[in-house]
Amino acid sequence: MTKLITPGPKAMAMIERDKKVISPSYPRSYPFAMDHGKGSEVWDVDGNRFLDFMGGIAVVSTGYSHPKVVKAVQEQAEKFIHISSDFYHENWVKLGEELNQIAPFDEDALSFMTNSGTEAVEAAIKLARYHTKRTNFIGFTGAFHGRTMGAVTFTASKAKYHGGFYPLMNGVTHAPFPNPYRPILETRKGEDYGEAVVRYIEDEILAQILPAKDVAGILVETIQGEGGYIVPPEGFYPALRKLCDKYGILMILDEVQSGMGRTGKWWAIEHFGVEPDIITSAKGIASGMPLGACIARKSVMDWEIGTHGNTYGGNPISCAASLATIDLIKTEFMKNASEVGEYAMDALKEIQARHPSIGDVRGKGLMIGVEFVRNKETKEPARELTDRLVDLAFERGLLTLSCGKSVIRIAPPLAITTGEMDEGLRIFEEALTIAEKETL
Ligand code: PLP
Repeated sequence: MTKLITPGPKAMAMIERDKKVISPSYPRSYPFAMDHGKGSEVWDVDGNRFLDFMGGIAVVSTGYSHPKVVKAVQEQAEKFIHISSDFYHENWVKLGEELNQIAPFDEDALSFMTNSGTEAVEAAIKLARYHTKRTNFIGFTGAFHGRTMGAVTFTASKAKYHGGFYPLMNGVTHAPFPNPYRPILETRKGEDYGEAVVRYIEDEILAQILPAKDVAGILVETIQGEGGYIVPPEGFYPALRKLCDKYGILMILDEVQSGMGRTGKWWAIEHFGVEPDIITSAKGIASGMPLGACIARKSVMDWEIGTHGNTYGGNPISCAASLATIDLIKTEFMKNASEVGEYAMDALKEIQARHPSIGDVRGKGLMIGVEFVRNKETKEPARELTDRLVDLAFERGLLTLSCGKSVIRIAPPLAITTGEMDEGLRIFEEALTIAEKETL
């Protein structure tokens, strides 16, 4: 595989200018300076071509600049770009109707539109307090829900996200996320690890720390994203649903990363046969146009006029992009995510058998995590190897992103072909072979 010159001179010059004017807080994984993209391919400003296994962090669901999305954006921009959420327009209502169709509830759904994932989570938190008239919440270790004050309080994947920002929102208690590869609680005979975590919430948190009558909601990423692409055991959601019903607690699922067809179903929770009360969406909902949504059962979204709002909610261009995106996911890409995802899982399991450092391969559809360890027995995270692998893949024309302590996430556009998946996995394995030699 030929090694690219990255960053090239144009990328380097841009990065120097960026340093002078852009906030230094942005986490930059590697020096990729985008010029343009098409489908699952991107080109940098120096003309280097890359295959994209991270899709703008699981955002460009239909691929880069899908012609139908571009057309929808252009047509809407020519009509009007903005009107404000104080008024009405067709694409906004239509999007609400679409979300009502696909929401994973047995009753009708109402949607509050936002500009981002974190704002959708804020809306869910406020709605849960408003509806239940309770104040407190349970979140999970390893979670990522965003960076605004409420959402970041739940975020617990890196201490850095909290450091320097206290006091955070009051009233959030974290439980261990049910990570079957790295369990930290004891499982009793007859229960799976997900059920053990729910038992811990009931017996340890609700009985000893936080009275259930004060808990408005339990907020959880259906499949944990930034924390390591972790799929909870089968028993977790049914048990959590039962617990929520027993105590009148709302079940709030963050599907910002796992939703909109990425796992081969509209929502990851559909793999578990459970209905939540509120879900949050963003990222893949509009192929990269800024849009999010807090979608709730009609009986839950009962806040009165004026209690919550925003200037850009239901932005006409974002809604147009979203409608085109939903149509493409429905007609082509959800099926593709399922098929190519299964193909990739099988291929990765074969790669795992050839490599000492791959401890776990897991996921659903095109939301796949590959966890690296220094030793398969001790499961010591191979952090250095993971970082090196990301860099080596980049130098060979593959964009990846890490998550958790030592996990690579595979979250390409849902439009990716098996041919492209093969090409990417070849680069991935070549980079892994070098990284293992260098770091183990
Ligand atoms: N929730 C989840 C599960 C996410 O993965 C993210 C972003 O990565 C967010 C919320 C926050 O979304 P945003 O960055 O659009 O605010």
